Amino acid sequence: MRIVVASGKGGTGKTTVATSLALVAAEQESVRFLDCDVEAPNAGLFLDPALDTRKEVGILIPQVDENICTYCGKCAEVCQFHAIAVIGKKTLVFPELCHGCGSCTLVCPEHAISEHLNVMGVLESGPAAQGIDFAQGVMNVGEPMAVPIIRQLKKWTPANPPAVEIRDAPPGASCPVVETIRGADFALLVTEPTPFGLHDLKQVVEITRELGIPAGVVVNRDGIGDNAVEAYCAESGLPILMRIPMERSIAEAIARGTTLVRAAPEYRSAFHSLLETITARAGA
Ligand code: SF4
Ligand code: SF4
Repeated sequence: MRIVVASGKGGTGKTTVATSLALVAAEQESVRFLDCDVEAPNAGLFLDPALDTRKEVGILIPQVDENICTYCGKCAEVCQFHAIAVIGKKTLVFPELCHGCGSCTLVCPEHAISEHLNVMGVLESGPAAQGIDFAQGVMNVGEPMAVPIIRQLKKWTPANPPAVEIRDAPPGASCPVVETIRGADFALLVTEPTPFGLHDLKQVVEITRELGIPAGVVVNRDGIGDNAVEAYCAESGLPILMRIPMERSIAEAIARGTTLVRAAPEYRSAFHSLLETITARAGA
């Protein structure tokens, strides 16, 4: 079962929920945790993995052999991203625009194009707390595209697939979030009861609906704002599966890198129930 934990905005407690859900799930089943927030992965601070495996990732970008190229322009015509251009007697590649689709290589009549790996970041993995099989993607600073790294992180599965895969999504509602949610069996959406929380929740709900993925909501810092999130969930048939009230001592423990279920063990049973509900809804 693949569970993605997402939120339309940063700072809602998404990683707090994802890491505690993983710890509780790992009491009963094999768990793989994917930190898909490749621009700023931080779940490792809570799950303390021993990262012993590393792999460079990126996309294959074209390299033109000017000795063979006839400057026919077919590669530039096929490229939807304007990442290759023929200007006079020069064929130029713009790696920052290239999506690595390979079309230019396929259409080149002279076989003048070869492909080489443009390294965009690394994947790292290793055992973490409670026997969790942890993996994260780390994007190189300045890279414009997170999606290829997330896609390869999702595919980087061990020989024995886990019973439960938990993906911690990036914040926001753009392409990296869509890629993280794609293919999941259930989306757990973490929000807070404020106008900003509601605005961003609506965006990520749209994504889950477009992808046809069942979803439920966790209201974090319950009690700080208004009832608008609750009303929206009721109107849209979105179940609220858990509420985590604002408690200063818990917030301070999390700020020190302690997981929610360790800072407040009374939440363990709530996370067990949450997992059971997700399992039932994902299979429904
Ligand atoms: S398609 Fe091949 S031969 Fe034509 S311009 Fe591009 S690289 Fe050169
Ligand atoms: S690999 Fe695809 S995106 Fe990149 S230059 Fe070739 S056609 Fe364009």
